[in-house]
Amino acid sequence: MSTIAQNVARVRQQIREAALAAGRDPEEILLCAATKMNDAAAVRAAIAAGVDCCGENRVQELVQKAGEDAYRGAPVHFIGHLQTNKVRQVVGKVDLIQSADRRNLLEALEKEAARQGIVQAVLLEVNIGGEASKSGFSVPELWEELEEFGKYPHLRARGLMAIPPVSTYPGENLQFFSEMSQLFVDISGKKYDNVSMAQLSMGMSGDFPDAIACGSTMVRVGTAIFGPRDYHSV
Ligand SMILES: *Cc1c(COP(=O)(O)O)cnc(C)c1O
Repeated sequence: MSTIAQNVARVRQQIREAALAAGRDPEEILLCAATKMNDAAAVRAAIAAGVDCCGENRVQELVQKAGEDAYRGAPVHFIGHLQTNKVRQVVGKVDLIQSADRRNLLEALEKEAARQGIVQAVLLEVNIGGEASKSGFSVPELWEELEEFGKYPHLRARGLMAIPPVSTYPGENLQFFSEMSQLFVDISGKKYDNVSMAQLSMGMSGDFPDAIACGSTMVRVGTAIFGPRDYHSV
């Protein structure tokens, strides 16, 4: 078994344990491989090992790996910060844009999806830690956007995504995960045009068991599958 396959099996097992400990069905949690800075061969190995989807951060990497047919057999998501001048390279090319993080991006996505005559699924990214350095809707902005989502007929909001602050001790982000989960439940109980709360995407290598304990339906895992990223080689 390849290292990547072993890692995926281990992460699956940890997902399983976290779900069962929380009284949840492990099957309802999707494993998204965060593939940034990993090449097509690594992506293929993760798909062969059974990840549910791949998440790319950078448009350039998405385009390159898609050109190499790296994602065959698995849905591909965009999970990084997306500049409005690059929406053409992403809309209609990915199954889900997890990082719809601001109004002008939603407007650009709507325009491009309309131009292509398609409907694009997105998640609304929430800046749950209120960090100045991070993008994402604040909670009040999120409610405002939901009220107005009818003006995006070519988009469907399928849920929420969050990247909480980098934690310095285990369990530090439980509070943010719980807040996200409460938001997800509150929004699910209301009706908005073009909105359905199917996925709550939260949890990364360092904290996905906590995210699952709080109700995450999709974890985005990079390092625990592919090993540490080498930022010096790029
Ligand atoms: C890189 C990345 C991840 C995965 O991070 P790891 O700590 O390597 O698991 C998850 N989500 C997003 C948006 C990322 O950019």
